[in-house]
Amino acid sequence: MHRIGFGYDIHRLEAGRRLVLGGIDIPFGAGLVGHSDGDALIHAIIDALLGALGESDIGSHFPDTDPRTKGARSLDQLESVMGLLRSRGAAIVNVDTVIVAEEPKMGPHVAAMKAALGPLLGVPASSLGIKAKTNEGLGPVGEKRAIACFAVALIQLPD
Ligand SMILES: [Zn+2]
Repeated sequence: MHRIGFGYDIHRLEAGRRLVLGGIDIPFGAGLVGHSDGDALIHAIIDALLGALGESDIGSHFPDTDPRTKGARSLDQLESVMGLLRSRGAAIVNVDTVIVAEEPKMGPHVAAMKAALGPLLGVPASSLGIKAKTNEGLGPVGEKRAIACFAVALIQLPD
């Protein structure tokens, strides 16, 4: 059988921090604030996968009160969720995502994000959508105070 899941995340941008998004470092003057590395794209994908599995959200799997998650790499959290998926005999059919950011331009980084995430998710680049758009200057994202991400994931589970 197939199950679909949906995830959303938003993190504040702060000047002088390292920007980690989609599992890669992006040279920019500001980065995402978070208990972990703040990778909002991976967090949205994790929530989509957990949703498809019928699990509770990322916050309950990786609580921000847990000192072990402090400064954690989101890639490692994704790997742990992939372990959970495999333990249920599930595999990903495809993942599609949207990054909403006024700056920096994401287009030049999409191929590197796919290269970082595809092997971990077990899907080819053609089954991992990463689309980027601005928020047309509207709201906190438009004012460059945050980056938001949306993700859907389709998984196949044993019948
Ligand atoms: Zn997050």
